[in-house]
Amino acid sequence: RKMTQILDVPFDALTMAEAVEKVMVFLADDKQHYICTPNPEIVMEAQHDKELMKILREADLVVPDGIGVVWASRYSEILLTERVAGYDLTQNIFSRIAGKNESVYFFGGAPGVASTAARQMKKVYPGLKIVGGHNGYFDAEEEKKIIADIKRLSPSILLVGLGAPKQEKWIYEHLEEVGAKVAIGVGGSFDVMAG
Ligand code: UDP
Repeated sequence: RKMTQILDVPFDALTMAEAVEKVMVFLADDKQHYICTPNPEIVMEAQHDKELMKILREADLVVPDGIGVVWASRYSEILLTERVAGYDLTQNIFSRIAGKNESVYFFGGAPGVASTAARQMKKVYPGLKIVGGHNGYFDAEEEKKIIADIKRLSPSILLVGLGAPKQEKWIYEHLEEVGAKVAIGVGGSFDVMAG
């Protein structure tokens, strides 16, 4: 991996097109992968949140969601070429997998948002398989049901929009159990998709 470190957070120096290709490779291999898209706030938060820093450092793909991160790389040997926002990355992935076998689960957002987002995305990307979803406000009991739901539906891609760093910590703790091939922390993306 061609990486550049910004305040100890390792970023992959990839264009959007290369990042999308990398996700396609992840989907095709036999391992699980998680993707983080930190903005400058999260890079700063990781300076004092050891757990978050560990999660970012172990991620399979880390792309800059914010032009500030791209600019910060000008002091490094390896430059980040462009902003690769989580929202745009997921839109590009949808475009690639629509009509194919890969499926997606939308986890996060206020009640009703994930289902509205799913309806909108199916319109924009005909043939996109969104197999389920759940809002991001849950207690321990509800969380068990959400985990069971994801396991049962077995999506290849799990989008988690609980806000950062909650979503990164959730993915790190539960990815193995829920079994998706690729998990991405997507922040407030469901709100944007829902319109
Ligand atoms: N959210 C959630 N559960 C929570 C807290 C937040 O599902 O316990 C959702 C919230 O509804 C919103 C998203 O997480 O859709 C956070 O969006 P924001 O833009 O604040 O996060 P960022 O993109 O900055 O990580």
